[in-house]
Amino acid sequence: MQILLYLCSMKLVFASNNAHKLDEVRAIMPAGVEVLSLRDIGFDAEIDENGATLEENSKIKAEAVAAFINDGMMIDGVFADDTGLEIKALGGEPGVYTARWAGEPAANRKKALAELAEKTNRNAQFRTVITLIKDGKTVQVSGIVRGQIAKEEYGQGGFGYDPIFIPDGYDKTFGELPAEVKNGISHRARALQELVKLF
Ligand code: IMP
Repeated sequence: MQILLYLCSMKLVFASNNAHKLDEVRAIMPAGVEVLSLRDIGFDAEIDENGATLEENSKIKAEAVAAFINDGMMIDGVFADDTGLEIKALGGEPGVYTARWAGEPAANRKKALAELAEKTNRNAQFRTVITLIKDGKTVQVSGIVRGQIAKEEYGQGGFGYDPIFIPDGYDKTFGELPAEVKNGISHRARALQELVKLF
């Protein structure tokens, strides 16, 4: 499979302009898979992520971009991810509301720390759902990384909730761990590993 990917290059659009996500996805994808951003293909419409689940929102994003693609672009497929932070003591919140829980990332992290201030159970997981639309077919895969919400913010690396998330098996947050470590065990990496099996 790996040999095949080296020989036949594949051009996929990742339905995002988030530079952090794009860096992660490009670092994780095997050689032979070219990942284009929305900017690369000139897609600048706002996508209304009004689904009730990560699965729905991931599909909404992928379908919106797939509808924009035309044959002249020589693109093999489109994929989109939607990620949620699911905190056990909060009944799985913020889940599908992860991006807009308190507004922007710093406020979101502050809210998570405040909501857990009195809680002893700090278990949480990141869950990513990826939808791929390719050769007329739509498929979904997912990836999970379990861990704990830290007591305060640590580290400047990564993005979003990374400075407050300590993955199981580590004593540092994703904000402190090197990108290679996050990209080896993250929710997004695990979902992408499942995705690559489908190529
Ligand atoms: P979305 O998948 O782009 O809708 O992201 C949902 C929310 O999760 C946003 O607030 C992101 O900042 C956050 N998020 C997504 N992926 C990660 C990650 O890998 N680490 C930390 N936060 C993330």
